[in-house]
Amino acid sequence: MVRALFSSLLRGEQAEMKAIAVTPGKPNSVHLEDIPKPTVTDIEAGKGVLVRVLKVGVDATDREINDALYGKAPPGFEYLVLGHEAFGVVEEVGPNVRALMPGDYVTATVRRPGGSIYDQIGTYDMTSEEVYFERGINLLHGYLTEYFVDSPEYIVKVPPGLKHLHVLMEPMSCAAKAVQQAYEVQRRMKVWRPQVAFVMGAGQSGLLATLVLKLRGLDVYTLARSQSPTQNSKIVAGLEANYVCTRETSLEALAKQVGKADLIVDATGSSAMAFKAMGALGHNGVLVWTSITGGKQGAEVPTDQINIDWVLGNKLLLGSVNANREHFESGIKEMALGEVMYPGVLENILTTPVNGLDNYAEMMRLLVEEKTALKVYVNVADE
Ligand code: BGC
Ligand code: ZN
Repeated sequence: MVRALFSSLLRGEQAEMKAIAVTPGKPNSVHLEDIPKPTVTDIEAGKGVLVRVLKVGVDATDREINDALYGKAPPGFEYLVLGHEAFGVVEEVGPNVRALMPGDYVTATVRRPGGSIYDQIGTYDMTSEEVYFERGINLLHGYLTEYFVDSPEYIVKVPPGLKHLHVLMEPMSCAAKAVQQAYEVQRRMKVWRPQVAFVMGAGQSGLLATLVLKLRGLDVYTLARSQSPTQNSKIVAGLEANYVCTRETSLEALAKQVGKADLIVDATGSSAMAFKAMGALGHNGVLVWTSITGGKQGAEVPTDQINIDWVLGNKLLLGSVNANREHFESGIKEMALGEVMYPGVLENILTTPVNGLDNYAEMMRLLVEEKTALKVYVNVADE
């Protein structure tokens, strides 16, 4: 192996590595590719950070990409390397990298800037352009491989004390952003002291949103279909929030019991539920939609009733996607606080490991079929 690598280097050939990829547009095309191993010099001005990948999480977005409902290959490629929830260790840095060094645990942001003003000031998550660039999702290769290289501005340090929560950093950044945005837009109210929050869905995003809202001192109700006890309901209880099984207590019944919510986060993955949530929001409240629904499903909505309700109640609907570096940093801090407040709870989200990139088929099978898996992730390499 070493000799083969050595002789290929002597011949001037680039070293290769394995990657889990799909052919966008072709359903169920997940496969293994050999791709060139990146080097620290791929990034200009001595600013490269080469990361050895340790673990990568997958989520419903990866499932939709493999179902050919979503995602695009980078220009000039037929395949797209999957994976946008990265955890790794810095292997090497260019001479002009100051903030990171070999041995640091890191994660990486997903989106890369386009051309709009928002992209140019580090808020690429708010791009105003139709085309967006996301590693592992749209037009850029992802992290489900052995190494990746990027500029330090997209690589975020993970404190060693949180390394056991590895692949949760990216989903956490999105939850942190969604709640931060809600508070930001609610500055329209001269006084806003939200008390009751509903989180729709108890998947990884819903659970992380539950944590963020609990840390803000809200009375949180997290709704899901399954009857407790489940792994999800135990995590909700561990976060000292209220788990509501919608088969036992409907959204309407909950709103009657505890009042309509001041803030709702929809993380169900279902557009029908996202609309349904509109009926449970209180006056002056904010509803945040975070589900990515690549399909073409429709649902009947009582438009007159919602319209009058929302106008008369000054209610606000907010879409939130992705996260920039600041959200990664604040999400990591909130996670650290979460570990102090609710010790050992968050790691229960990490239910379903898969060993090695070679097991890509098993990874996708678990993602599609294993309904009780809260988080499927690939152990790419040992430390
Ligand atoms: C990712 C986000 C991304 C979104 C839309 C989500 O699964 O976590 O980073 O912006 O999909 O592509
Ligand atoms: Zn995601």
